[in-house]
Amino acid sequence: MRLHCHGLFLPLYSSPVKHIHFQCRHCSTQWSREHSLTLDCTLNPCVISASWLGSISDSRAPPIACLSTPLLIHNSTVHMTTASAPPETLFALTISDHSRVKLVLDTKFLFLDYLQPRTSSNIACFSPVACLSPGSAVDDESSQQCSIPYFNILYADVTPPNTTTSLINYGTLSLDYCIVTGADAPITANERKAKLARLAFHIDAQSAPAAAAFAAALMARAYNAAVGCIAQKRLLVFVNPFGGKGKAIRRFRAGALPVLEVARCKLNIVETKYRNYALEYVENTQGLEELYDGIVCCSGDGIPHEVFNGLAHRSTGPDRAFKIPVCQIPCGTGNALAKNLCGTMDPAYAALCTVKGAPTPIDLCIFTQNGKSSVSFLSQAIGLIADVDLGTEHMRWMGNARVTVGLLQRVFAHKSYALDAQVRIVHDSRDQIRRAHKKHTARPVTITPDSPDLDSSSAEAWPDLKYGDGTDDIPEDWVTLDTSNISLFYVGKMPWMAFDALFFPAALPRDGYMDLVTVDATIPTFEILSIMSGVAEGKHFESDHVKYYKCDAYRVTPTGQEGYVSIDGEKFDYAPFQVEVKKRLGTVLSYQPIYQAPAI
Ligand code: ADP
Ligand code: MG
Repeated sequence: MRLHCHGLFLPLYSSPVKHIHFQCRHCSTQWSREHSLTLDCTLNPCVISASWLGSISDSRAPPIACLSTPLLIHNSTVHMTTASAPPETLFALTISDHSRVKLVLDTKFLFLDYLQPRTSSNIACFSPVACLSPGSAVDDESSQQCSIPYFNILYADVTPPNTTTSLINYGTLSLDYCIVTGADAPITANERKAKLARLAFHIDAQSAPAAAAFAAALMARAYNAAVGCIAQKRLLVFVNPFGGKGKAIRRFRAGALPVLEVARCKLNIVETKYRNYALEYVENTQGLEELYDGIVCCSGDGIPHEVFNGLAHRSTGPDRAFKIPVCQIPCGTGNALAKNLCGTMDPAYAALCTVKGAPTPIDLCIFTQNGKSSVSFLSQAIGLIADVDLGTEHMRWMGNARVTVGLLQRVFAHKSYALDAQVRIVHDSRDQIRRAHKKHTARPVTITPDSPDLDSSSAEAWPDLKYGDGTDDIPEDWVTLDTSNISLFYVGKMPWMAFDALFFPAALPRDGYMDLVTVDATIPTFEILSIMSGVAEGKHFESDHVKYYKCDAYRVTPTGQEGYVSIDGEKFDYAPFQVEVKKRLGTVLSYQPIYQAPAI
């Protein structure tokens, strides 16, 4: 295989923004005026996934071309010409051992440029990212390059040469990182996955100081302190042995733990012993704010719900307590928090996101029932969704199928629900909602530790209820909805309610609003089924039979005999309740300050 790149590094691995696929010469593609790529395929058809940072339709030259993993070039020559400049070399180190690799730190990637052909005897790159499979010979002129985005890098360090013994006279520069796959697949596909990998290079005494400086420079780029991402986080890790039908511990140990350990996180792993164990632990542990950089829930959404409620009751006061960021490794049955924050169901990828996360403010809801307030970070449901979620517990043996079976049973039985609902509506037209969403997501998405974030308002206290506890008269500006015969009444604060349910595509982390979806029970059965089948990709947002509101408070009074109220998937009394939003009250550990959902 030969790779020739002119005026540009051709990294072999990246987490791209957009991608384009090229095929070999027989069907080569001239894909922009400034760039050309020719594949000279001598053997099998070769397929290259190439990615550009930036939009392909953008006529300005994108800065770097990247091939996404896995590398699928075999026995091919790539000629690439471009008008754009090579990546800026911020720091470079040439390893002088037999691998003769040049390591370059660019703005977004670590590049590895092998200056001499590598064979199985001198291969120093032990990673699947390596351009060559062991044993293959290469042309002398060839320059082989790999790249690893900083996001993927977990740890870099140097074991210095031991000069006191003649047996070992070289040290090691080792780079631990994750190979990420599926990052450019649609978010609905749940394909983002991570796998551990390591590169190691021999270093002699002379180059040890340079290697140590290089490792430090790489770490500074891998963990962007400017946005609050710190290395070697101290994490309180809850593992719910009951979660995910008892599979949570295995999922955590096999998928997430190795990534957290390789990143040298300092872990306090706590198994939950009973319901509300995590809540009590968080509420009562002294010095939690000083001890940890984050709380990781290896569970379904039940444990984050407990953690947020534990934080609310800490004696240090909610102001300080809610600053501890919370995140999730998807180990339960409902793992909405991880899906919204990382767009994945893969524990290893979620662990990478945890390692690379920074404290990020989010809105929380306060749910008040019978004079008692609790925190809801995700959703409130009454009607069909609560009924399917909580009324099918006896069918748990079916696994995820219980939701589908439970749903079909109720829809075909024409089950309807009756309640009174008064809502403080902010937007009720799709156009308004779309416009507000666009405006919110178009703003610069960087949160620094001391930046005022995307807007200037500060966090609101807890519970300090703006609209009371639900016993006062309804304020005049609240609207009474016609909910005497409904199917769905579902309120969410995040887009995804499960890995395959994009119920609230317009939900935003910090807009100060909840998204409310209602569906009348009077519409034909097939329409309800069609709405429910569109939820996987958020298509129901376009349906005329779905009412979609943005609101910041509401009250619900069930009028039927019996039923279910589900708060973040947990069962509450079938009794009147009131909910309001507290803007930016909570904090999550997130690698991006937005939720991982498609644009609306
Ligand atoms: P799943 O998504 O599988 O439902 P969750 O993490 O949401 O998993 O947890 C389900 C419930 O298990 C929560 O209500 C939580 O309070 C409860 N729980 C936590 N630890 C235990 C335990 N050791 N035994 C029984 N229940 C527990
Ligand atoms: Mg649960």
